[in-house]
Amino acid sequence: MPDTPKKSSAPFSLRAAIGFLSVLLALFFIWLLSFVLNDIGDLPGPDYSAIQKRHVPEAKQAEANELKSQFDAIEKQIKRQQEIQDTLKQSMNNAETALTKIADLQRLSLEGGGEPSEVDRQAMENARTRFYDAQDKFESANETITTLNSERHQLNQSIEANGKELSEFENKASTEYNAAFRSHQLKIAALKLAVVVPLLFFSAWLVRRKRGSMYQPFHWAALGSTFWMTWLVMWDHFPRDFFKYIAILAAILILGAFLVWAIRSATRPRRDIVIRRHREAYQNHRCPVCDFPILRGAFRQAVWTKRGPRLPGDATDTAESTRYNCPSCGEGLFDACGECGEVTQTLLPYCSGCGRESEPATAEAQ
Ligand SMILES: [Zn+2]
Ligand SMILES: [Zn+2]
Repeated sequence: MPDTPKKSSAPFSLRAAIGFLSVLLALFFIWLLSFVLNDIGDLPGPDYSAIQKRHVPEAKQAEANELKSQFDAIEKQIKRQQEIQDTLKQSMNNAETALTKIADLQRLSLEGGGEPSEVDRQAMENARTRFYDAQDKFESANETITTLNSERHQLNQSIEANGKELSEFENKASTEYNAAFRSHQLKIAALKLAVVVPLLFFSAWLVRRKRGSMYQPFHWAALGSTFWMTWLVMWDHFPRDFFKYIAILAAILILGAFLVWAIRSATRPRRDIVIRRHREAYQNHRCPVCDFPILRGAFRQAVWTKRGPRLPGDATDTAESTRYNCPSCGEGLFDACGECGEVTQTLLPYCSGCGRESEPATAEAQ
């Protein structure tokens, strides 16, 4: 029988190698598809700085920059004044030390009965002048710092107000950006699905259409890889709570399809089994469909016992070249061959006259 499946005749090692290569092929398909999908995912999205520019007025931004630089300048000035104060403090200390030293010297000379010299008095005078000078300058630096501090405080308030306005504009910009980003993501997802879903359907069609083809491992590899990539795209781009419905629906569909296939192949006997049953029935002169005796030719007068037909002694009429339908179920059991015209068993695959292969046995045991 030429139609008998010959898969089992391939050695196990060869079949294992074919299986392994098919899995490898599926992996490479997945790799290739992920290159394409990644390129789609790299398409430029919305530009945040452009949106920001549209929403934030330039004047406000310039004002913010101006305030910032003013603030920095004041900070610098305050720091400078504090440095000056440090220097003044140093020179005050120096003058104070000098004053104490000179006073000590003068007391010593007074205790020794002498008069403080003119030089000493001059030095004392100088030190005192220096001390007061430094003190005055220190005070004026203090005043400057106080003024600068209040200026800084005012600037701070302006910066705060400006910042509040700016952040309102920024919020608007980021809202628009988020919306644009979402729609960009949707566009990417749609593009990816537009690439991968037709491939999925095409490979499913190939698997279904080319059943029995020896290139079927190619089709299965394509189906597996496109299915996986479709799954990944949906996982990446669909919201999770939406995805769980898709996932469970897909699982139900796949399981359902598998179950239908299993039930069908369990209830539909394989062709070789059907043919064997038909052969045995014809051998026993019984209808292959309903088991009614075939009352034809020499068997028209036969008596059917448990062990088969018993022919009456004078049954020599062998005119068998007539069509015959089962009187019980109506199935056509003998009919003329479409090629040679010989009347032959319709439920067996080959014509007894010319050997032409006919349509596969149609009568199925229900
Ligand atoms: Zn019948
Ligand atoms: Zn024929």
